[in-house]
Amino acid sequence: MSPLLDAHDLAKTYPGPRRIRALDGVSLMIAPGETLGLIGPSGCGKSTLARVLTRLTEPDAGEIRFDGRDWGALRGRALRRARGAMQMVFQDPAAAFHPRATVAGALSEPLRLHRIDPRPDWPDHVARLLSEVGLSPDLARRPVAALSGGQRQRVAIARAIAPRPKLVLLDEAVSALDASLRFHVLELLARLQRERGLAYLFVSHDLAVARALSHRIAVMEAGRIVETGPTEALLAAPQSEILRRLIAAVPEIPAEEALP
Ligand code: ADP
Ligand code: MG
Repeated sequence: MSPLLDAHDLAKTYPGPRRIRALDGVSLMIAPGETLGLIGPSGCGKSTLARVLTRLTEPDAGEIRFDGRDWGALRGRALRRARGAMQMVFQDPAAAFHPRATVAGALSEPLRLHRIDPRPDWPDHVARLLSEVGLSPDLARRPVAALSGGQRQRVAIARAIAPRPKLVLLDEAVSALDASLRFHVLELLARLQRERGLAYLFVSHDLAVARALSHRIAVMEAGRIVETGPTEALLAAPQSEILRRLIAAVPEIPAEEALP
């Protein structure tokens, strides 16, 4: 199968006195319907990579092919239209919404932006999205700010899937949740993947969490991907010092965090 995402030799150095090479020749592929876990210590460049892939940050060099197109070359209106196919969910759901947005407002916006439905159908669509992420459609009129952290992250996921993406980038999307909420959100993500055929880039500093969802894992250190492989094979025979250290930091992966 040809890859959904194929990124080649991405580079990004942040200007300034420290000139940090956040990405130093990064290449990766994601197949349709696949979860690629991206793990590595804080500051190794994971968020920069996610932002470059979604075109929120421009790389200095490199190529990105996505969904059969030269994704890195899209500009302006063509990019805005195409963006529905690649969505992102961030760690902090509070910061991801307009402070006064209602749930219905937050979920209608991608429907409008990506012309998913005509306006009269939005309330029905919003209700469907809410039940798809395990929330009551009654929440539609509530302000997003009035929801709990777990509910808000579900709304963020609903908003991400609203434009019917093929790839969702999850940047520490469950890192702020406590263990039991996190488990339920991971379950939700697994179900959405099955039902919608979604591919994920699952970014996490936490190996145990990434392992639960990822078919393959890429290990990042100091702006480079140092090793990639099928999750269990990679963990059974780590090649890099950094992966050995990440494994050692998780003495035992609790069975209840392993999803079927
Ligand atoms: P991670 O998500 O793995 O923690 P980041 O991609 O956020 O890593 O950061 C990689 C490196 O780039 C870090 O050293 C960070 O301090 C630096 N960095 C990130 N964003 C910026 C920015 N906007 N300006 C300057 N430096 C940045
Ligand atoms: Mg980050």
